[in-house]
Amino acid sequence: MHTTDQIQGSPPTNISGHDIVIIGGGPAGLTAAIYAARDKLSVLVVEKSIIGGLITETERVDNYPGFSEGISGYDIADKMHKQAQLYGARDVSGDVTAITQTDDGFLVRTADASYHARAVIVAGGSSHVKLGVPGEKEYTGRGVSYCATCDAPFFADKVVAIAGGGNTAMSEALHLTKFAQRVYIIHRREEFRATPIVMEAVTRNNKIEFIPDTVIEAVEGDDFVRKLRLRHVLSGDSSGLTINGLFVAIGLKPNTDYLKGLLELDAGGAIVVNDGMTTSVPGIFAAGDIRRHSVRQTVAAAGDGAVAALTAKKWLEDL
Ligand code: NAP
Repeated sequence: MHTTDQIQGSPPTNISGHDIVIIGGGPAGLTAAIYAARDKLSVLVVEKSIIGGLITETERVDNYPGFSEGISGYDIADKMHKQAQLYGARDVSGDVTAITQTDDGFLVRTADASYHARAVIVAGGSSHVKLGVPGEKEYTGRGVSYCATCDAPFFADKVVAIAGGGNTAMSEALHLTKFAQRVYIIHRREEFRATPIVMEAVTRNNKIEFIPDTVIEAVEGDDFVRKLRLRHVLSGDSSGLTINGLFVAIGLKPNTDYLKGLLELDAGGAIVVNDGMTTSVPGIFAAGDIRRHSVRQTVAAAGDGAVAALTAKKWLEDL
């Protein structure tokens, strides 16, 4: 259900006929698809991995309006996906590498296809920031993870560490305590970015131990992660921490590498938009985590998607 449907036949090239191609099948892209398809526009969503995007990694969302009992990120995405399909939006698997302008719109290019559209909504979200330390890449999938919701069950009765001090790190820590025997939270300073209500729950949990003012300098092990090399940023002292797993939760960066030189981006790589989600190129709109000043909330991404679809529709009507 959560994979995209490959358009049938051999690898397609130059598939035309879409009013709007939406890049990204997360809450922003799916909401844009619902709005645009419901308005009888032909809509294709191009998603590089899993329909739903990063929200599918969130075990439980408590602040999405209308779901007072909480709902899993997977279920939100599934409901949005089905709703978009109900109105006729199609989706296809593909990692977009470029958008090029044509006389009558745009070509959205992936490795093996080009999709033509009169307008494009970029809703490709963001990716996990990496620590960039020795061993991190080598041990990814062998003890280093970026998703506790996905991987926590592998760490039953083990000792794990989390890097980060934001809401993601804290939510992941709480989730991990259901499996692991001990959870260290390693943060580079003393104050935490996470909201007080989340911090209260984390502080109350006796399986969690904070290691503040500390950075990870290396991830070490044999076949699997065994140890972190740490440095206390105030004293400069180095130490080792024996662990079985490391979860990295140090933020997100917008997936805009392929848009450099085409769209105006801010210093952090986010797409600059106006109130209507219009980018610096007429006919290309942006929505969700990928745009400047995003608050990175599912409900806000959905709101952006609706705005982008309505603005795109108006733009197409005015053509
Ligand atoms: P975030 O809020 O940006 O926090 C990133 C954390 O990682 C910060 O504590 C930061 O430290 C630390 N960090 C960044 N780069 C680092 C590095 N190179 N080495 C070590 N530490 C580093 O990111 P997030 O927690 O992923 O949250 C992203 C957004 O989603 C936020 O707006 C958050 O509120 C939202 N969110 C909301 C919920 C919810 O329940 N509502 C749940 C999850 C996420 P500093 O503090 O020192 O910069």
